[in-house]
Amino acid sequence: MFRRLNRAAGMILLLATAPGIAGLALMTGCARLPSIADLLLVNGRIYTLDWGEPAPDGTPAGDAPLGAVGWYPDAEAVAIADGIIIYTGSAEGAERYRGPETVVRDLDGAVVLPGLIESHVHINEVAENLTRVDLRGLNTEEEIYDRLIEGSRDYAPGEWIVGWGWDEGLWANRYPDNRRLSELFPENPILVDGLHGFGVWGNRLAVAEAGVTAGTEAPVGGEIIRDGSGEPTGIFVNRAVQLLRDAVPTPSLERRMSSLRAALLGMAADGFVCVHQAGTDSDMMEALEGLEAAGELPIRVYAMISTRDEPLTRAWIARGPDRDTDSMLRACSIKAYYDASLGSRGAMMLEDYSDMPGHRGVSGEEYGYNEELVAEAMRAGFQAAIHAIGDAGNRDVLDFYEAVIKSDPGVIDYRHRIEHAQVVHPDDFIRFGEMRLIASMEPPHTVEDKAWLEDRIGPDRCRNAFAWRTLRIAGAGLTFNSDLPGSDHDIFYGLHGAITRRDRDLEPTGGWHPEQAVLPEEAVRAYTSWAAYTSFQENETGIISRGRFADITVMDIDPFVLGSTQPEKLLEGSIVLTIVVYAYF
Ligand SMILES: [Zn+2]
Repeated sequence: MFRRLNRAAGMILLLATAPGIAGLALMTGCARLPSIADLLLVNGRIYTLDWGEPAPDGTPAGDAPLGAVGWYPDAEAVAIADGIIIYTGSAEGAERYRGPETVVRDLDGAVVLPGLIESHVHINEVAENLTRVDLRGLNTEEEIYDRLIEGSRDYAPGEWIVGWGWDEGLWANRYPDNRRLSELFPENPILVDGLHGFGVWGNRLAVAEAGVTAGTEAPVGGEIIRDGSGEPTGIFVNRAVQLLRDAVPTPSLERRMSSLRAALLGMAADGFVCVHQAGTDSDMMEALEGLEAAGELPIRVYAMISTRDEPLTRAWIARGPDRDTDSMLRACSIKAYYDASLGSRGAMMLEDYSDMPGHRGVSGEEYGYNEELVAEAMRAGFQAAIHAIGDAGNRDVLDFYEAVIKSDPGVIDYRHRIEHAQVVHPDDFIRFGEMRLIASMEPPHTVEDKAWLEDRIGPDRCRNAFAWRTLRIAGAGLTFNSDLPGSDHDIFYGLHGAITRRDRDLEPTGGWHPEQAVLPEEAVRAYTSWAAYTSFQENETGIISRGRFADITVMDIDPFVLGSTQPEKLLEGSIVLTIVVYAYF
């Protein structure tokens, strides 16, 4: 039984599995698996990844499907029943799983991989953008009004309408007032958010709900634009933008659920069967739990609890980690934030920034890092995932992990991670291996940041930046992701960046520090089997094998062959089909 959804980027099959069946099949081993398939995929170029791990230098295992002429697929058919893979192998072998009701899908030579996992995303932000009216590229007031009317058709009276992408920079010499905006929307407060973050525009109702009157003083560094009689016109500039933004309430649970579901369906269409949500607060958890309870989660969500939401973190510490690998929503990880980014010079460095002498970034405490809370969660059995970007940030986090592990050696088993791990001091790489840490990193950041990174930190430190090979050799685990919406989650862009260290324009020739690139198999594993290990699901998903979840991604290019021969062609790939077990409870 499965539901079919046609979407622009590809087809998604959401396989429904009755409560507990997946877990039952996994627990009881292969003997209890059904003998007739619901769905048979044939004529595919299937890479199961069901062979030995590559060596730290990338050398494939002896049993990998790699011959004198290169990589070749190790199966051509997959049979699926009740959301579980019951067969993988040759086309002839698959025939005995075909029954009268079996749906057969000819893949016509498309490439089949284990379902892709995005191991660090902010899907709440993607969802939030879906609830806002996109005003980018509009140049006249009339165009903006039309788009707002169009985008808010299903809004109830009183509900806030938020638009974004209004280019306030272009309008700075001719700011509109809110007379027309108030006439058109007499019953809904409206916030039009600027593209650059320094200007917002609201109607009369929005200004009233924000409590702003002729008598309101603008905060220091901000301006409330007023008419001749001193009344606010609805335009707020610089630090005053917050007056209006703070008035926007959290969207209703129903709207949060529907936008999250839409964002997750978008990920499914783009080939992903699971996302790791890097920082889940109470509002988001409520929406995720609502979707799970309704059987409406289209893909798996590994929700990392945000330590910035201390009450939620404490509630989960008291409850303990959710280790049920069978459910669509799991929470056994907490996300903490040590430093900021290299771009903003907020990442903590051991030495001064090369382009700003005397400056070494923003320290953990200033950035809301609560060490005690993280240690407590680790002791309660949670995986810790700490954002650390600079070499001082990474060292401090390594020191912290070392101290907690020393006092409580058992916690080493919870597969702790460092998010981003962008610049690491040469002395510190080995510590990742010693503590069995996972480096959770973004190939897109590497190929995007290279443009200015040498200015920021100089050529010597660049050698230890995005150092995937050095980390692998040091024994670190590795998982790849995009930090969506921080970067583009397109898997073909990610694989290309990982394998070539070049951007979409194929710059620089030969790749940026190509000695740190990974091989095609490692790149694919960092988005599949290694990402599954990172979320404690390596026995359920991450490879294509009998008894596993039917989590499968089909694409029209071969990352193994192209990655080894013509990697620039990876950028032309597209997703054909995504299959994910759709459990309902
Ligand atoms: Zn992030």
